[in-house]
Amino acid sequence: MPCGCSVQGEVLDDLRHVDVDQQKRRVSGEQALRAFIEQMQTMEISDAAKSGDGTTQNVGIKVNATFQCAECRQKFDSEKAKQLHWKFIHDPNRHQED
Ligand SMILES: [Zn+2]
Repeated sequence: MPCGCSVQGEVLDDLRHVDVDQQKRRVSGEQALRAFIEQMQTMEISDAAKSGDGTTQNVGIKVNATFQCAECRQKFDSEKAKQLHWKFIHDPNRHQED
């Protein structure tokens, strides 16, 4: 006769899966934030470099920062970084997200 152990095991398995998913989401959120912060720090460096003597030197500047934000003058070295920036800075719907 069934004792219910296998059912319980399946439920526990489900719970574990949910837990892992949530952890993954949390980690990727932290990584996204960290990447965003790094991006902002990079922008500060390149802005400071540009305001120097006006010459274009690639010291401390990401030379492959070619992804121009459509809403401001900032550039990013990847589409993902640009999208992250946009989401944090310009996205009018971000507060409505869960
Ligand atoms: Zn922008």
